[in-house]
Parts: sequence; C-alpha cells; structure tokens
Amino acid sequence: MKRALVLGAGGFIGSHMVKRLKDEGFWVRGVDLKYPEYSETVADEFLILDLRHRKSAIQSLELPVQGQHFDHVYQYAADMGGAGYIFTGENDADVMFNSASINLNILQSQAELNLQSGTISTKFFYSSSACIYPEQNQMDPENPHCEEASAYPANPDSEYGWEKLFSERLFFAYNRNYQIPIAVARFHNIFGPEGTWDGGKEKSPAAICRKVANLPESGGEIEIWGDGKQTRSFLFIDECIEATRRLMDSDFQGPVNIGSEEMVTINELVDITGRIAKKSFSRKYKLDAPTGVRGRNSSNDLIREKLGWDFQMTLEEGLSHTYRWISNQIKSQELRG
Ligand code: NAD
Repeated sequence: MKRALVLGAGGFIGSHMVKRLKDEGFWVRGVDLKYPEYSETVADEFLILDLRHRKSAIQSLELPVQGQHFDHVYQYAADMGGAGYIFTGENDADVMFNSASINLNILQSQAELNLQSGTISTKFFYSSSACIYPEQNQMDPENPHCEEASAYPANPDSEYGWEKLFSERLFFAYNRNYQIPIAVARFHNIFGPEGTWDGGKEKSPAAICRKVANLPESGGEIEIWGDGKQTRSFLFIDECIEATRRLMDSDFQGPVNIGSEEMVTINELVDITGRIAKKSFSRKYKLDAPTGVRGRNSSNDLIREKLGWDFQMTLEEGLSHTYRWISNQIKSQELRG
C-alpha cells in the first residue's frame, strides 16, 4: 500500500487532498497545528505538531517500522490568509518566519533521514503561489502576465510571495544537492467548500459569498475591497486536487501554474454571486483596503503541454457549490447561537 504524508492537513487544500488520497487507496498521515474545522479528518493517523520545530518535522516524516517510507509528501503547511492577512504588511515577519521555517525543517529532516537510511524514495509536492509573479507584469487588469518563465527578474508585491519564491528555490536546491524528488506548483486562488470563510484569513470568493449570504432577501449593501475593477481567476478545489495528483504522478517538476484562465473583475465575481443567491443589492467600495496586484490570471499553456490538464468548471458552477456551503455554515452558526 502506498503511503502519503499531508502537511497542513487541517487546512483547506490539505484536508481535500487527504480525502482524495484515501479514495485512491493510500495510507495517509495528516499533520497540522489543528484538526480540520469543517469536517472530520479521514486520515489514518493525524498528528498535531508545530512544523516550525525540527523535532516535529522529523516526527512527521518517520514511520514506526524501520525501512518504511512515505511515497509522497504534500507540503501545504504555511502561515496563510487572504488579502486582509497577507497584504496589510502587519503579519510579514510572522508569515516569512513561520512558512520558511516549516520548509527548511522538513527538507533538511528528509535529507538527513535519506542519508541515514541510504535510500531516496519519498517525493515532495510543494504548493507555491501566483503571488511570486513580478508586480510590474500585473499592473494592467486586462492583460496580466503570469507565464511561468516571467517569474524572473523577481519582484513579488508581498513578503508572502517572496517567501514562496525562496521556498520554491529551496525545494529545487534540495533536489539538486540531495536528489530529493520534487514537484512544484503555483496555485492561483483556489476556492470551494470547506475553505476559510470568516475570521480575517478568508479570500475574496468566500468573503463575497459570506457578505451576500448575510444580506436579507430584500437586499441591502455589501462592502467591496478596492474599486472592484481588479481582475483575478479562481480555480475550484476539486480541479486543483486533480491537477496536483497528475503532476505528482508525472516526471515533470515544474514550477507550473495550477489555475483557471477564466479571468473576471471582482465586480463580475460579485455579479455572479448575486445571481446565484437571487439577491440584488448595492455596493460600497472601500478604496483604502488591501487588494494586491491590479490584474492576475493563470497561464495554462505549460500545464496543458506537459500534463494535458486544463480547468473545466466555470466560475459560476464552482461559486454555486461554495455559496451553498457558506450559506449552510451561516445557518448552522445561527442555530448554535
Ligand atoms: P490553509 O491556511 O487553509 O492551510 C494551511 C495549514 O497549514 C493550516 O491548517 C495551518 O494550521 C497549517 N499550519 C500553519 N503553520 C503550521 C505549523 N507551524 N505547523 C503545522 N501546520 C501549520 O491554506 P490553504 O488555502 O489550504 O493553502 C495550502 C497551501 O497552498 C499553502 O501553502 C498556501 O500558501 C498555498 N496556496 C494556496 C492558495 C489558495 O488560493 N488557497 C493559493 C496559492 C498558494
């Protein structure tokens, strides 16, 4: 039986990956600071550990029987949030220290375990981000450039993006010097059920679904961050998981974009959400809110060529699943009082 370790298994993407790997017949260990918030984990084993500590990284990677190893490690653990968390500047030191420490610890621990056992059998997936792309290529909301090769000369617009770029390079360095097999993807705004939807770390699709769901049937007003003309694309969680599994089962290391090319303005995202909810409302623009770059869209040429994968679900379809799930969350919260 194949074995997989999912780091960050209590988070949004990690908990979905655990489900997928179990469906495929893997034995799965999850590791996180916390259990998943919105459903019980289906991992065979779940360890609550802080990966900023070397001891925890080693404990995550070691299996009880000598000679056993993980076939795959999915590294999602990071200090992460939406624009209200990563673009304000207030959390920069924590984001950089916490996420870089996790990646440094896990790779160095695996390199040492490999040296001790004399084998190299565990392949790593690293979840990088579209936030690594240079700010100057994303000034025109109609025409952003996020081709993989455009990453350098580097100029991400946030410290979160700089840490991701550093850690991408770290994974490639451990591949080069310690032969650890790796695959690296740059995710573009992944969304869907069981993603954070309140509390300050939520991302725009979840935040907008929540704001619209909280409106009375008669309508009202919602607040939009920025002027609403900034563009983005959003990929539904199931498609992200499928692309990641294909990447891990291929010989292609990346870095490669995993995203949707259905680019919309935030105003259009709000329009679609309003249609799904069957609510009409007015909008108030908070122009001094953190918004990130002006325009961003995935470029899928490389992943189409290397893996034959492409996004399929429309934003409207993915958002209707997400809207329904968030509305139900709000209703059950109200029932709990
Ligand atoms: P998430 O915040 O839901 O999950 C991250 C998990 O890491 C959390 O459960 C958190 O508790 C855990 N974690 C943080 N610090 C830890 C520590 N010290 N030890 C152990 N666990 C720790 O985020 P997500 O949306 O599931 O994102 C997963 C990964 O994908 C992250 O690395 C993120 O940067 C990357 N990514 C996500 C998106 C997106 O749109 N969601 C886009 C680009 C990249």
